[in-house]
Amino acid sequence: MPMLEKVLIANRGEIALRILRACKELDIPTVAVHSSADTELMHVRLADEAICIGPAGSSQSYLNVPAIISAAEVSNADGIHPGYGFLAENADFAEQVEKSGFTFIGPRAETIRLMGDKVSAIAAMKAAGVPTVPGSDGPLPDDPDEILAIARKVGFPVIIKAAAGGGGRGMRVVHNEAALLNSVQVTKSEAGAAFGSEVVYLEKFLQKPRHVEIQVIADGQGHAIHLGDRDCSLQRRHQKVIEEAPAPDIDPHLREQVADACVKACIDIDYIGAGTFEFLYEDGGFYFIEMNTRIQVEHPVTEMITGIDIVHEQLRVASGLPLSVTQEEVRFRGHAIECRINAEDPHTFMPSPGTISTYHPPGGPGIRVDSHIYDGYTVPPFYDSLIAKVISYGETRDSAMARMRQALDELIVQGIRTNTALHRDLVRDRAFQAGGVSIHYLESKLEDH
Ligand code: ADP
Repeated sequence: MPMLEKVLIANRGEIALRILRACKELDIPTVAVHSSADTELMHVRLADEAICIGPAGSSQSYLNVPAIISAAEVSNADGIHPGYGFLAENADFAEQVEKSGFTFIGPRAETIRLMGDKVSAIAAMKAAGVPTVPGSDGPLPDDPDEILAIARKVGFPVIIKAAAGGGGRGMRVVHNEAALLNSVQVTKSEAGAAFGSEVVYLEKFLQKPRHVEIQVIADGQGHAIHLGDRDCSLQRRHQKVIEEAPAPDIDPHLREQVADACVKACIDIDYIGAGTFEFLYEDGGFYFIEMNTRIQVEHPVTEMITGIDIVHEQLRVASGLPLSVTQEEVRFRGHAIECRINAEDPHTFMPSPGTISTYHPPGGPGIRVDSHIYDGYTVPPFYDSLIAKVISYGETRDSAMARMRQALDELIVQGIRTNTALHRDLVRDRAFQAGGVSIHYLESKLEDH
């Protein structure tokens, strides 16, 4: 069976370049679609064809479904890779792509829909034996007495979450019975206004969890594998800042048990493509919170410790080919860390767009930089501020950390402000170096400054 014949990359920035590189290696011609603000992007220059699909604002370009489909038609592309963000987890887009006769490089629309609703996602996970957070077992009922009974059984503090929520919105922590019913009402109406659905559910609120996630990939032909875990606990406002693989200090048997359950869930829901099961991890327990049905920003750390190119696998399975490796063939070796370099003010964290006067990326053994920037490139103010991912690999966590320290010291980005200094500080932070900090660590450290 042949590979896809031409891939349209429906994204921008570093991930668009990452996808383009994978396509080039596999001899698949590429089509870059871009906004009028992005004519100078590196992947737009390198793609076989480039089509401007609209003005700078995302809603008129990177989120403009008819324009993207038309671009696929005029360029004769047969596959569309959505990257992450933008339309990557939009089930209607996936459906539209398939209906128009193209291959969506990702799971089926109905799978995206199933996982996009957190209540149905949790139900599917439970059925597959994936551990979930103790909670309401479905949507909260209307009856106040029943709500109270559920919360008492779960035990305070609890968190009320919108089934259709996302991006860290539509959640409310409740510490005691007195605040419960009002919080449920407020979350419901907020969810209705923000997501068009008032369905909410209740979970135990975990106080000092870590964020640990499992990477999977499935070919939709009965084969699914996991590529181990990643720890992404260093976050600010629910945005990941540093990720690593494997997650430190996790019992290998437990990891394998949970990863196997994720693989089973993939088979059960007939999953196709790359995906990530996100968990909160506390006191030796994994608790599923959601599944991301796309490639993730932090996928390189997994690639570094497995030697598997996840984007290649995405392109293979979307082409109808089986996975290139079996679970038994996956070998985990060493440790990898990723620092997300953002164009932002190091103190206020406000975006800092502008022209990069000097860019010098780090190098040396075990260093990988995924970035679309170059000398003279202007970071536009309209999009995400991620400008580079610096990834280090070492045989041990200590050596990956040492290489990252050196890499960050070598990195030069001038002309705009970046968060490089924060990263330099973090890779020298005692608690982070020791491993296993909670998702609140970074914010509390920043508050102390
Ligand atoms: P979203 O889709 O909005 O990202 P998630 O369900 O992934 O929502 O939750 C986002 C974040 O909220 C988590 O990373 C965690 O920080 C916090 N959170 C969610 N559920 C819980 C919980 N049960 N206990 C503690 N924190 C939680």
